[in-house]
Amino acid sequence: MRVQCVICDEIEKIDSDSLQAKRLRNRRIHTYMCPSCHDRIGEKTEKRLATGNFRIYKERKKEKYLS
Ligand SMILES: [Zn+2]
Repeated sequence: MRVQCVICDEIEKIDSDSLQAKRLRNRRIHTYMCPSCHDRIGEKTEKRLATGNFRIYKERKKEKYLS
């Protein structure tokens, strides 16, 4: 499946059978970050995203599924 990074808008292909893909489809996680952004921002942002207080989360949460 294709996913779009919430930070840089990079489109990545991830394995549809991966745990990450399953979690995205099940909406247990609401955002995807590409590896480079993940490395750059990492857990700190994930925690902020989880709180729902992060601006990008609110603006972009409907755009994360591309396939
Ligand atoms: Zn990115």
